[in-house]
Amino acid sequence: MELQSERATCAKCGKRFDPALEKCPHCGWQVPAGWVWPPATPEEEEAIAQKRKEARERIILTTGFEIEGRAISRYLAVVSSQEFLISDSPTQELEQATNNCLERLKDKAVKAGADAVIGVDIDYMKMEANAFMVVATGTAVRLQESE
Ligand SMILES: [Zn+2]
Repeated sequence: MELQSERATCAKCGKRFDPALEKCPHCGWQVPAGWVWPPATPEEEEAIAQKRKEARERIILTTGFEIEGRAISRYLAVVSSQEFLISDSPTQELEQATNNCLERLKDKAVKAGADAVIGVDIDYMKMEANAFMVVATGTAVRLQESE
């Protein structure tokens, strides 16, 4: 799945892609830090937000390294997210923190132009008596279009 927009034009290959992406999904051109695309019209903004939302809903998170019935076409990036929390009885908060980490992993996957994050690993670290850190990592991948 690739997000399409009529605004962001790759400086290298000239193809169009979603301006939220950090790299051109066609040729891998890295959008320079601080790069500003021309402003979108409200209609474009809405269309892009909608596509991003749909892309986010389609992101597959798995602790496995394969997606049933789909071939991986590209390994894009290792993505990670962290959540720090201080609590005396952290059971519930840890669950919420884990969910937050996984949601942010999805956001990063969308930004990377991924379809899925494989090998998702969640680590819990006890920093001090009542301070905890949750770290989620995984590999953002693009899948071949299903037939
Ligand atoms: Zn390109």
